[in-house]
Amino acid sequence: MSDDTVSTVLGIDIGGTKMAAALVSADGTIVVEDRIATPVGDADQVFAALGELVGRVLGNASPVAVGIGSAGPLDATHGLVSPVNIAGWRSFPIVERVRALVDVPVTLGVDGHCFALGEFWTGAGREAQTLLGIVVSTGVGGGLVVDGQPLLGQSGNAAHIGHVVVDLNGETCACGSYGCVETYASGPRMVARAQRRGWRTGESVDAAVLAADAAAGDELALAAFDDGAQALAAGIVATAVTVDLTTVVIGGGVSKAGSVLFDPVQAWVKRLAQLPFVADLTVVPAQLANAGLLGAAHQAWSSIR
Ligand SMILES: [Zn+2]
Repeated sequence: MSDDTVSTVLGIDIGGTKMAAALVSADGTIVVEDRIATPVGDADQVFAALGELVGRVLGNASPVAVGIGSAGPLDATHGLVSPVNIAGWRSFPIVERVRALVDVPVTLGVDGHCFALGEFWTGAGREAQTLLGIVVSTGVGGGLVVDGQPLLGQSGNAAHIGHVVVDLNGETCACGSYGCVETYASGPRMVARAQRRGWRTGESVDAAVLAADAAAGDELALAAFDDGAQALAAGIVATAVTVDLTTVVIGGGVSKAGSVLFDPVQAWVKRLAQLPFVADLTVVPAQLANAGLLGAAHQAWSSIR
């Protein structure tokens, strides 16, 4: 580039535990990045913390667009967010408020979509054209990129992989349905299932402890991961036969379990994906620590092209 000012967009990633912001160039290079723990407070208190973070990241820069990825649910049409884990924000006009800070085009997307888009842009899915991204943590979310483009759906909520029903006689899900992928594969549900079978009964433990025990060979912990993996694989294969996928990228806190999750997911996908066009489906771990942020930035670049 001949001048010394690199053109950038501002990416913002809003989650229940942290908020991150970055200036990102057109080739996906992060120029500056910062993050904060999501504060607890009323709508304006939470936004004030975000505003401070944005001010710090911006410095003297003038981004050409802003992309926001947020935990859902959200209303992309009206620029409103109501993240389940940010109690202070209900139908919060995030697009309007951010635009008051940075007067450029502002786009808003679901965090799972941004995760998929980020991994597609510069991460584990960069060789793929059609990709399913899955975030496995306290819930199970996701996003789809089809033929190189994010698939949003009519309300912007496509790829809710966690709520694909995989068990017709399954447990009740937080969404109101039953037998969803999430009822087997989320961290808390895997822990609860293992505890019901006698694993660390009565202890206050999380999926990281379950993963460590599984890695050490604990049969109840391994069984909980296998059940979660089978449900994930069923959701993955249902999606793969529907949209004709090549690649699945899995990230999120529970994916840090590594082979105790990925080995059974791959084995179950191989078992369930029998049609020839999905037989070579690959499932790989996410490569980026900040895929959601990069996906939000990618969305911003797309909005002005
Ligand atoms: Zn559900």
